[in-house]
Amino acid sequence: MHIVLFGPPGAGKGTQGVRIAEDTGIIHIAMGDMLRQAVSEQTELGVQAKAYMDAGKLVPDAVVIGMIEATITKPEAANGFLLDGFPRNVAQAEALETMLSRHALKLDRVVFLDASEGLLVERLSGRLLCRACGFGFHRHYSPPREAGRCDRCGGELYQRDDDREDVIVQRLHVYEEQTAPLLDYYSHQPSFRRIDADGGMDEVYERLVEAIQNTD
Ligand code: AMP
Repeated sequence: MHIVLFGPPGAGKGTQGVRIAEDTGIIHIAMGDMLRQAVSEQTELGVQAKAYMDAGKLVPDAVVIGMIEATITKPEAANGFLLDGFPRNVAQAEALETMLSRHALKLDRVVFLDASEGLLVERLSGRLLCRACGFGFHRHYSPPREAGRCDRCGGELYQRDDDREDVIVQRLHVYEEQTAPLLDYYSHQPSFRRIDADGGMDEVYERLVEAIQNTD
């Protein structure tokens, strides 16, 4: 299975992507996680990406496209992959198509997580993520059992630097301008599915599984 999940920041791509990967054995490739890793390791690429990320802007296409190609061709991706946060604009979608056809691969599902804009700021500003497994919690809606610790693996929970209200507003603006046009790009393709991403984590997960499995 080769899956793309896309939608606005805060729609639940990361949370749902981790679960799909765990349940199916395909790898979860989260572009934002790879970039944050590069930033924390202070690689040349990470240093370059940091300023864009802190400002809530997209990192240049050449950087992220190169990183994706290196990842989807790894042996770990042989069973399939779920892309979360890539592509994020039409140029990246076109580059993905070209690189997949070069490796004789195709996308089986492109799922759009459709979430109401009003909920996104609240979801993002209260979000807590596990440093170890990437699982997401929310301060009010789905708090961890023990403050600061992941229920699943005991890892440390943290708040992302770009989950501050001013940066969130900028990220939503960038989404509208650059990522929302992907709807036109993908919506006529047979692999495209749209799901309602408002609602609880389990409820949205059920809709996502159905969208992935349903061949109609
Ligand atoms: P995310 O974790 O998906 O919310 O991404 C966090 C940040 O990483 C974004 O705000 C961008 O600055 C950067 N980023 C993630 N994915 C991409 C992408 N496909 N293209 C460019 N920048 C990206």
